[in-house]
Amino acid sequence: MKVFFAALGTETNTFSPLPTSLASFKDRDYYPSGTHPGKPTFLSAPLHVLRERCAELGWELAEGVIAAAQPSGTTTRAAYETLREELLADLAKAMPVDMVVLGMHGAMVADGYDDCEGDVLARVRAMVGSTVIVGAELDLHAHLSSQMVQEADVLVLYKEYPHTDIMARAKELVDLCFAAYDKKIQPVAALVDCNMIVPIHTTREPGASIVKRLQSFEGKDGILSVSVAHGFATGDVPEMGTKVLVYANGDLAGAQALARQLADELIAMRDSLLVPYRSIDQALDEALSAAPGPVVLADRADNPGSGAVGDATFMLRRMLERKIQHAAVGPFWDPIAARIAFDAGVGATLRMRIGGKIGPLSGDPVDVQCSVKALKREMSMTSLSGGQTPLGDCALVEAEGIEIVLTSNRNQAMNIDLFTQLGCDITKKQIVVVKSAQHFYASFSTIAKQVIYVGGKGVATPDWKTLTYTKIRRPKWPLDA
Ligand SMILES: [Zn+2]
Repeated sequence: MKVFFAALGTETNTFSPLPTSLASFKDRDYYPSGTHPGKPTFLSAPLHVLRERCAELGWELAEGVIAAAQPSGTTTRAAYETLREELLADLAKAMPVDMVVLGMHGAMVADGYDDCEGDVLARVRAMVGSTVIVGAELDLHAHLSSQMVQEADVLVLYKEYPHTDIMARAKELVDLCFAAYDKKIQPVAALVDCNMIVPIHTTREPGASIVKRLQSFEGKDGILSVSVAHGFATGDVPEMGTKVLVYANGDLAGAQALARQLADELIAMRDSLLVPYRSIDQALDEALSAAPGPVVLADRADNPGSGAVGDATFMLRRMLERKIQHAAVGPFWDPIAARIAFDAGVGATLRMRIGGKIGPLSGDPVDVQCSVKALKREMSMTSLSGGQTPLGDCALVEAEGIEIVLTSNRNQAMNIDLFTQLGCDITKKQIVVVKSAQHFYASFSTIAKQVIYVGGKGVATPDWKTLTYTKIRRPKWPLDA
């Protein structure tokens, strides 16, 4: 018996000025067939479950390519087709197989392909035929398409945002795939479109209870798996939006009824799911008048995890104008400024130009007197899965009372070690600005006295009404009434 695993994905912000290229994959995670390390990377969670499971059951495991890029703009056709063909060639080499398990994001858009995952799954299915079990783990920010559901036997999405359950969901996926292979279950799917787009923060109510409610149905009354795709608002594709996916054991009507019921519940509570965003000045006012911090401000509009650049200066500029002290900002993607800090060396004082380099939604660069406090080559940050994600050569500089982490690789704030390993003690700051939408929360909530979500303009703005959509299906709440 033989199972094939491979992974391919990214989250595409179709409004981002940064193309996703082959180099974008090689900068983050690119492991040709058979070269993936023992520690999990972004999309490899099912592989680690499969390695154990196959050893227990005596199955052969063929490991294909694993490729994941930092979220950016539309993937180039060359990058997508090259990696897809590598994955399919790895599968062809492994054939015949009894099962295919894939790690995918679900919101990858390439030039000429609005639904990359649907395309990959269709090609895999065409290769292995209708009787081989095909399963995939997806991010809850997927544009969950009917093609994806149709071509796979089982899709399992993360339930938690921040995504702290990647390994738990991978285990469920592998369990379901093996149960389907053993004919102990016959998964049938129902997919319901809520005609809306809402992010669900599961770190507070009502999001936390939604996760528990979805799980309360699983494993009972023939219900095998329940997923909610939150969707990803800065991907302008027809399938964008919040959807409910239910698998039941051979019972299509049961799956459909539950999916419809849960979709109606989400629609009824959608106002309470919207994230309360503050303007930059409102957030700074609130943080300054709060009890001793740290107060963590999430710069959502410049979240590299949603495909934004990570070099926007709107908040930093306002903090400097307001002469805010005891503050830290990071991670700030500016490889040129980081390089200059390395050239100047620790202890140097110099005038630096920071950020604002990529486009109008990065704002203007900030010119400010800086002192170089710390430097670290090839620094990495702990990711949500517990692995390490590379930030490249990083510098900590202080600009008029504000400490800034400059990175050479784009990434969002996922762990406080992005500050602490450079000697920046964020527990002593009143204000800590992180470039992240919500993944920061898992780690930063351990030190934060308060968290404030900041909106405003940017490549990943939460003010979706300012975006010019051309492909999404309308009406879609809250863009439309
Ligand atoms: Zn996500």
